[in-house]
Amino acid sequence: MATGESSDAGPARFGPTEEELGRWMDSAFHVAGDALENGEVPVGCLLVYDDEVVGKGRNEVNESKNATRHAEMVALDQLLAWCRRSGLDVGRVSRRTALYVTVEPCIMCAAALRFLNIPVVVYGCRNERFGGCGSALDVSSADLPQTGTSFQCVSGHRAEEAVEMLKTFYKQENPNGDQKQLCLPHEPSPDKRVQTLLAT
Ligand SMILES: [Zn+2]
Repeated sequence: MATGESSDAGPARFGPTEEELGRWMDSAFHVAGDALENGEVPVGCLLVYDDEVVGKGRNEVNESKNATRHAEMVALDQLLAWCRRSGLDVGRVSRRTALYVTVEPCIMCAAALRFLNIPVVVYGCRNERFGGCGSALDVSSADLPQTGTSFQCVSGHRAEEAVEMLKTFYKQENPNGDQKQLCLPHEPSPDKRVQTLLAT
């Protein structure tokens, strides 16, 4: 694995090094594991500013009975609170903040990331049905007036592991379910069972 040398960092370019990417995604997977243990769709994410975690979230949809409490939204709330506590301007912080998440952000979350001008999103597996970074809609890079700024995506990091977690969740929820009905986020299929879970 590459170490965190700053060889790819241009003077005006903002983005994680390989070492940072691996380290923060590892944490995001731990958060996703916590979701799995608590009966939530296993998605975990981190918001990292200046090598500090300023937001951390996992799905809280079932616990809160609120379909908008996706991991990213939970983490973004923490980012706002962190900025208030620190006396820092949200706009300035968010423009230098990277999001690490185990599954491609959905359309709703991708739009929220645009509005907050988050520049970089690193994610694991794709979310074929609801993904807002090119899978269902291209919210991340589309030219959408007055909706914040587009953001860069780095995809595929530990994607199979992210899918395995979703499969595990599905099996737990449906222990007697037909295995043939399993549908992975990156596999187009008429049965979008896992994808449906991602939106709930
Ligand atoms: Zn979402």
